[in-house]
This record gives sequence, C-alpha cells and structure tokens, in this order.
Amino acid sequence: MFTRCMVCSVPFEANEQLEHVPNGRRLAFDPGRGRLWVVCRHCRRWSLMPIEERWEALEELGKLTVDKAKLLSQTDNIALLRSGPLEIVRVGRAQLTEEAWWRYGRELTQRKQSWDKLGVAGTLAAGAVVAGGWAAGGLSMLGMWLIMGHGSETVRDGARWLRFGSSAWRGRQECTKCGFVFRSIAYRERTSLGLFPDGPGSIQLVARCPRCGEYREAGLHLQGEEAQRTIRRVLAYHHFAGASEQRVFKATRLIQEAGSPQDLARIVVRDGKRLGDLRRTGGIALEIAVNEANEQHLLELELAELEAHWRREEELASIIDGELTPVPLLEQMRRRVTGAGGSP
Ligand SMILES: [Zn+2]
Ligand SMILES: [Zn+2]
Repeated sequence: MFTRCMVCSVPFEANEQLEHVPNGRRLAFDPGRGRLWVVCRHCRRWSLMPIEERWEALEELGKLTVDKAKLLSQTDNIALLRSGPLEIVRVGRAQLTEEAWWRYGRELTQRKQSWDKLGVAGTLAAGAVVAGGWAAGGLSMLGMWLIMGHGSETVRDGARWLRFGSSAWRGRQECTKCGFVFRSIAYRERTSLGLFPDGPGSIQLVARCPRCGEYREAGLHLQGEEAQRTIRRVLAYHHFAGASEQRVFKATRLIQEAGSPQDLARIVVRDGKRLGDLRRTGGIALEIAVNEANEQHLLELELAELEAHWRREEELASIIDGELTPVPLLEQMRRRVTGAGGSP
C-alpha cells in the first residue's frame, strides 16, 4: 500500500472514503485496462499501484464514481469527478451525466451555513453583554431582542467586510459626458448598479455618474473580463447570506431550462436591469451562472493538463504491467473489474 509518492516521496494525505486506497486525495483509474494510480499533489506525477493490490480498490472506486461522486467535467478520454475531498480521474468516456451547476451551488449552501453560525455567534456575544449586567437593570424582552438582533448583524457585517473589503472595483475611468473620474465602486452602491447584455454570454456593468447623472449613455461602463470579475464579486457580496438547498435547486433548474449559464445570464439581464431589481432566485441563478462559466474555463485547462499526464503515465504503466506481471493475472483482473467475460 502506498503511503508516499514514488517520484518525490512526499506522503499522500489520508482519505476516509476508500477502504482499499486509504492514502491519496487524487486518484486516477482506468477500469478498461485495470490501472490505478495515486496522483501526487506535490510533483503531480502518478504512482501506479502494484497490480495485486488493485482489483478491490478498482471495484470500490468504480462503485464510488457511479453512486456518490459528482462529475465535474470530461473530455473524450478522461473525466474528472469529486466525492467529498476526493478527486478522481476516470479514464475512458464515463456514462455519467454532468451536473454542471452542482459545483457552485455547494458554495452557496455552505455560505448559508456559516451565515447561520455567525448569527449564533453574534447572539451569544450580545447575550453575554445582557447577562453581564444590563439584565440586572430589568431590560424588557423587546430591548433584549433588539440587542441580540443587532449583535448578530454586527458580527455578520464584520465578517462580510473582512472577506470583501469595501470596494468591488478599483481603477480609473472617465465619464464620457462630463469627464468625472471614477476610481472605485463601493459594495454599498450595489443595488443601483446596472447589468446590461454585452455580446454572447457577457454582461456589462454600469454605474450612474454622480456628477452629470448619466447612466445608459455615459457614466461608468465596465466590460469584458473586468466586468465579469466585478459582477462575480458584487453578487457574492449581495448573497453573502448564501442560499438554501431548495433555492439553489430552483436556481439550477432555471439554468437548465435556459439551456446554458450564458443563456441564463442573457434571460435574467434581458435588455438591462438594476441589480437591486433582480428577483431572489434569478439573482442566485445569475451568480451560479457567472461563476460556472469561469469555473468551466479553468476546468478545461486542468483537464487538458490531466490528459497529457495520463498519456505519459499510461505509457509507463503498460510497460510495467506488461513486463512485470504475468498476462493471465492481468487479464483475470481486468475481466473481474470490467465484468467482461465469464467468472475469474
Ligand atoms: Zn510526488
Ligand atoms: Zn458624468
């Protein structure tokens, strides 16, 4: 059983999900050829598991990818899946449907959990003040309730500020009408920001000019990657409280019905909308969609790299398995794992 990388000797992190491969957070397997590697996070090389230790592990992995793992993305040759902290590279076209929206949806539900916890923390802090003296003075229930409510909001606001700071965008842009120089967009102005369609899959972010009052024709217009980045930030700030699973489910349904994250963005923004006028589910769907497009792009780069790694490691594996392992054993294992051909 491997505990460390065969190339650089850095120890593999333990995972608690697989009995037969307890070490490694990223695994690669090829059910067709009966190969199994543990991928090193440090040097990124793949360590091929000894053949006699592979088959139960392959069965276990095969089951996990079908039952529990979520498909992040795939090419014709490899698929990248995730199950908890475990990342799995599966060689061969997976017969799995991609749950594209799941990735970012999870971020939103986790945000809601920490938001709820922050509320409890704030209430406890205010409660401590009350218990520490004011309660002795005979504070009304209403008074206590106000203090507690205010307490949680202060903690939450503090957490939000720590995470985001106060500006969603900093730069230098002039209003084309009056020459006013924009240097930043503060989060507190977010509800008045305009979202306008800007070519396929892209949104333009617009702020009213505080001097001449122009909005559509002049003012601040952010476009391209700068706009998408700022929109992702503003929406994350706006939805700092996260969303319930049910809300995320509804939002992802909207994206599916729209056809793609880009189409969803186009439908929600239509011919222009103020961020403050977005309906809740539509706003959550938009946040998922703008992040989805970004994440998809990063995943495509990662998959291309993984595929190059796989080609190299597979060449080595075929030599190791072919030369060091008696062919009947390999064939026996392959059949057992793929379920192809009679009993072993
Ligand atoms: Zn290594
Ligand atoms: Zn102006």
